Amino acid sequence: MTTTELAVPLFDLRLTDADLAAVAGALRDGELGAGPRVGAFEERFAAHLGARHAVAVSSCTAALHLAYLAAGVGPGDEVIVPSITFAATANAALYCGATPVFADIVGLHVPQIDPEHVETLIGPRTRAVCAVHFAGYPAAVDRLRVLCDQHGIALVEDTAHAPLADLSGRPLGTFGSAGAFSFFSNKVLSCGEGGLLCTDDDEIARRARALRAAPMDGGTFDYRFDGPRAALLTSRLAGLAADVAARRALVHRYRRAFAGIDGLGVPFRDSDVEHSSCYVMPVVVDDPSRRGPLRRALRERHGVQTSLLYPSIHEFTAFRERYGEQHLPRSQAWSDREVTVPLYPHLGAAEQDRVIEAVAQELAC
Ligand SMILES: *Cc1c(COP(=O)(O)O)cnc(C)c1O
Repeated sequence: MTTTELAVPLFDLRLTDADLAAVAGALRDGELGAGPRVGAFEERFAAHLGARHAVAVSSCTAALHLAYLAAGVGPGDEVIVPSITFAATANAALYCGATPVFADIVGLHVPQIDPEHVETLIGPRTRAVCAVHFAGYPAAVDRLRVLCDQHGIALVEDTAHAPLADLSGRPLGTFGSAGAFSFFSNKVLSCGEGGLLCTDDDEIARRARALRAAPMDGGTFDYRFDGPRAALLTSRLAGLAADVAARRALVHRYRRAFAGIDGLGVPFRDSDVEHSSCYVMPVVVDDPSRRGPLRRALRERHGVQTSLLYPSIHEFTAFRERYGEQHLPRSQAWSDREVTVPLYPHLGAAEQDRVIEAVAQELAC
């Protein structure tokens, strides 16, 4: 079965006429590069976060790179990152000439970076810790902030999954020295390619703005943003709260249904959902040998697309060859068992029931 025959895709995007009109407006005004629409979007985004500064850039990877540089990360330094993440979290440390050091997750029910493991990894070369708010749920950035302050190192937040999510009412992205958001196509708030660095620190914001389009030692990078994408994001930001509310309702519905299926675990707690952007819906199979056959059956028999978030990146050849084997048993357990099922704001009840029934049926046999 090809993607076009899928009954329920993993993700689907729907833009409104207002979104299209906003982009057309930028094109009509000839604002193809950076212009007033970029500044206007940055102001809106900073205001909705309650952060002093927002700097729009070409991707979240770029925002992470700038956040690490602004934290003083350089050659010979170490940045502690989780292994259950997109490779960009670690790659951005490599761009600074630093070494990523991988921390384990708390466990299958809390697949977030474990502050206790982080503490054991902090050494003389550690310059920063990056917390990823996996699936849009808060990592323990309150505890990590205290830990990082004690050791005089920076906390950076990878908020790629987590716009409009919070920890104890405080928006994610505002706990660290900087937060890095992604507006990549399949993210909660998307425009194609795009990212943003938020910070309360005037100096970090100044450096990020200067570096966004400046030549760097030994090379140049261009992390600029542009008017049409800013216009699209400003328009879509108005619908973000409704999108996240729809995602949360769907996740509650999934959780109720999946709770009754033997052999299946559902991470996080019901009460966490209201604090999450609900970027994706992860589940874990008890028996890892059933994962491959389950995904194949979902695709071939039921037309349901699934994904893996994430294969633990410390096992990637590129990192293993450079930094040697690392043993992260909980990350490995997660990456052997996780399945991501379809979730997007306009996922219909019939499609969602199709996913639920397919999972129940395949795990029953
Ligand atoms: C998508 C993603 C990124 C990178 O985002 P880009 O905008 O594609 O650079 C970084 N971290 C995480 C956790 C992501 O999911």
